[in-house]
Amino acid sequence: MAQAIKIYDDRMCALVRPGALLQKLANGAVHSEGPVYFHEDDSVVWSDAHSNRLLRWSPTDNVTVLRDPSDYQSGNYRDLQDRLVACSSGLRAIIRCEDDGEWKILVDRYQGKRLNSPNDLVVKSDGTIWFTDPPYGITEPNQGYGGEPEQPGSYVYRFDPTTGEIYPVVTDMVRPNGLAFSPDESLLYVSDTAAFNIPGGPHHIRVYETVDSRHVKNGRVFAIIDPGQPDGLRIDEHGNVFTSSQDSVQVYAPDGTQLGKILVPETSANLTFGGRERDRLFITAGKSLYVIDLNTRGVQL
Ligand code: MG
Repeated sequence: MAQAIKIYDDRMCALVRPGALLQKLANGAVHSEGPVYFHEDDSVVWSDAHSNRLLRWSPTDNVTVLRDPSDYQSGNYRDLQDRLVACSSGLRAIIRCEDDGEWKILVDRYQGKRLNSPNDLVVKSDGTIWFTDPPYGITEPNQGYGGEPEQPGSYVYRFDPTTGEIYPVVTDMVRPNGLAFSPDESLLYVSDTAAFNIPGGPHHIRVYETVDSRHVKNGRVFAIIDPGQPDGLRIDEHGNVFTSSQDSVQVYAPDGTQLGKILVPETSANLTFGGRERDRLFITAGKSLYVIDLNTRGVQL
C-alpha cells in the first residue's frame, strides 16, 4: 500500500479520505483494461487485453480466468438487465453474455461495413449502448486479429440493442477511446488517445452536449491530459471527471479545473466505481488491479 493523493485544489479534499491508501488487489496480467463491478458478489471483472483473457477478482476467490481466449475483449459494462456487455476488439463487435453463459454478437457493422475495433462502452439510462471505435484491434498486433479498416474514420456510435439501430454520434475525434456521461446524462465525455502512436496527436478529453438522448453537439476540449494520454474515465455524483493517465488517475471538476491526482505506480488504462456504496475506485493499470476508498460515489457502475 502507498500514500496516493496529490491535491491541487481544495475541492479535492472533500473527495478523498485522509491517509487513504492505494491497495493492489491483483497482479500477473499483461495489460489490465475495462473493469466492471458486480455488486452481487463484490467482484470485479476486467480484461487482460493484450493476453486475450477475461479475468475476475473477488474477496473470496482472488483472481480467476473467466474467458481464455476472450477475442481481445476490451471495455466492459453492464446493461439494464445486469448482463455483461463488452467491446470485442478481436471480433470487431459489441458482444453480450447471455443468461446461458454464451457470448452473442449484438452488432459488428455500420452501413454494411465492419466496425474498426470497439474499445470502450457505456450503457445509457434508456438502454442504448454508446461505444468508441478506434482501430487498435486492427493496427496493434497484441490487441486484435488484424485486418483492414472499412470505416472512413474512428467514431463514437450510438447503438440501440432493442431495434438494432446504429449510427455515429461523434465524428470529429482522432482516436476516441474512453467515454462516460455526466450524472444527468446532459454531457458526454470522450477521451482521445491519438498521441499513443500518432506523433503530435491529441491527448485530451472532449465534452459534448447531448441532444434528445440521440445526438450530441457543441463539442469542445475539456482537459488536456499529461503525462501520457487519457484512456478510460468515469464520473462521480458531483460531475467530477476521473481519468486514467500515465502517472495517475487525474481528477477534474466539471469546470475543467484539475483538482488532484491519485498516484498509481503503473500506467492506468481504465477505472470504475464499485463497492456496496459505490465509493471504491477500482483501477486497471499495467499488470495489476488496484482499489482506493473515496469520499464520493460513482454514478455509473
Ligand atoms: Mg480503452
